[in-house]
Amino acid sequence: MQARVLPFPDLKLRAVYIARFEAKTFKNPRGCWLWEGARRNKEGYGAFWYEGAVEYAHRVSVVLFKPKWRRIGLSPDLVVMHLCNNPQCVRPSHLRPGTQSENMIHRVESWGQTYGGSTKRLLPVVAA
Ligand SMILES: [Zn+2]
Repeated sequence: MQARVLPFPDLKLRAVYIARFEAKTFKNPRGCWLWEGARRNKEGYGAFWYEGAVEYAHRVSVVLFKPKWRRIGLSPDLVVMHLCNNPQCVRPSHLRPGTQSENMIHRVESWGQTYGGSTKRLLPVVAA
C-alpha cells in the first residue's frame, strides 16, 4: 500500500482533493491541522483516499500542497517528518519529507533534549 510513489494530482482534480482534505481537518489555535477523518492505524495517522488507494493523510498533504513534491511525486523511500511532533497533524508547513536517518536525528534533537535523553518519550516511527 505504501510501496508506490505518491503522484501529484491532475490540476483540475487538485482543487477537489484539497477541498475534501481540508474538510477533514481542524485547524487548532496552536497552528496544527488535526486530522478528523478516518485513521489508518492505532498510532493515529490519518487515512485519505487518494488516486485510487488509501494513503496516509500526512503524506498526501505533501504532494497536494508542496509544489516541489507535486512535481516529482513522493517516493516511498522517504518518510514524512512532523516538525511539530504531532502525528495527527497534516499541515503542509509542519511536514518535511526526509530519509529515515534524518527522521531519527530530528526526533532525538526535539525529544531527547526535552526529556533528558530518555528514549521512552519518542513518538512512534513516522510511517514510511
Ligand atoms: Zn503541526
